[in-house]
Amino acid sequence: MIGILAGVIFGFVAAQLNLADFVKDWIKPFGTIFINLLKMIAVPLIVTSLVKGVADLKDISKLGKMGGRTFAIYVATTAFSIALGLVIVNIVRPGYLIKAESRQVMMEKFADGASSKIAAAETVKQSGPLQPLIDIVPDNLFRAATDNTSMLQVIFFVVFFGIGLILIPGNKAKPVIDFFDGANDVIMKLIDIIMLGAPIGVFALLASLVVELPSLDLLTALLGYAFCVLLGLAILLTLFYPMLVKVFAKKSPAFFMKGIAPAQLLAFSTSSSAATLPVSMERAQEHLGVDEEVASFVLPIGATVNMDGTALYQGVAAVFIAQAFGMHLNLGEQLGILLTATLASIGTAAVPGAGMVMLVIVMAKAGIPEAGLALIFAIDRPLDMCRTVANVTSDLCVSMIIAKSLGKLHEPKPSEL
Ligand code: ASP
Repeated sequence: MIGILAGVIFGFVAAQLNLADFVKDWIKPFGTIFINLLKMIAVPLIVTSLVKGVADLKDISKLGKMGGRTFAIYVATTAFSIALGLVIVNIVRPGYLIKAESRQVMMEKFADGASSKIAAAETVKQSGPLQPLIDIVPDNLFRAATDNTSMLQVIFFVVFFGIGLILIPGNKAKPVIDFFDGANDVIMKLIDIIMLGAPIGVFALLASLVVELPSLDLLTALLGYAFCVLLGLAILLTLFYPMLVKVFAKKSPAFFMKGIAPAQLLAFSTSSSAATLPVSMERAQEHLGVDEEVASFVLPIGATVNMDGTALYQGVAAVFIAQAFGMHLNLGEQLGILLTATLASIGTAAVPGAGMVMLVIVMAKAGIPEAGLALIFAIDRPLDMCRTVANVTSDLCVSMIIAKSLGKLHEPKPSEL
């Protein structure tokens, strides 16, 4: 918290004193190093914890049960989030507030940035309907493991490997499981060490973000749009998830909020669900009482496929841009957005700014001009920070619900509260 606040204040002062270059050269690298350390640990963490998580299930039907439930709840919360976003953006109608001049300015200013996102989406767009399924299966495990955006492929292999471990005789499986168990403890220790640097890393990230912020008049033009996204996220964070926790996991919202706060702060400052994963795992197991078996399965998958905040943002942004261009989308078209945004959010990589690439696909399917991406470019990073908080919160909420439904939600020890 202190790191975040100090970073924001420092960033503002530095911007006033024209020290933007100094911040970029001497402060920002520490933020980058901090995110890199967290990302570096993400793949080994998934491998060691998931192998053990799956092997501990001891029986394939348990895996099927947990997998089916996890996926169903993830899709349901995502669809709800987009529907919420669509309702808000249709009531507030922020696109009609954009003046023609500001639209022109933004289209020119951010055309370059937008076109790189559009180009990145091009390859995804050209593929067939079953491409997302093909993408889950890696042709080379090591290539998948070298790329933080291919986390789903790594998960596929690891779950498969875990199934193999369940099927071989126990005496053969034991040394392998013991190895991953020990390695998992080592990784957890490394995370403790990395997190010692969190205040400095977070300070550097926020300071460099603030000096790079666009001018105020551009931001005010986008206020209506940002308001819709933030209102939707606020409803998810303060009402929807606490209610789910209360009803399905029988825990108080205060207990949940207190337990997950450090993961939320980290999601906010890194804008990456993957970078936040190590802390989410720790919070779920040590502070929410989620059994390791559940946490090590539900959370890595959630970080990669469950993105409620991103989905909500994609729905709002697509309709906002359509409004700004004077297009009217009927109910059928908006339901189309709900469907494509659900799929797009599943395909979004858990790294900063990835949601915007997949937004291009949602827009293209709905016939909304892609160049309109330039309109929302200026304000994407702050919204990315906020939507990542919702993404991570949703994963943690679902991990509690699944744990409860399987009788694997424990009372945390008093020292861990
Ligand atoms: N940054 C988001 C995440 O990692 C993805 C996105 O919406 O860009 O969860």
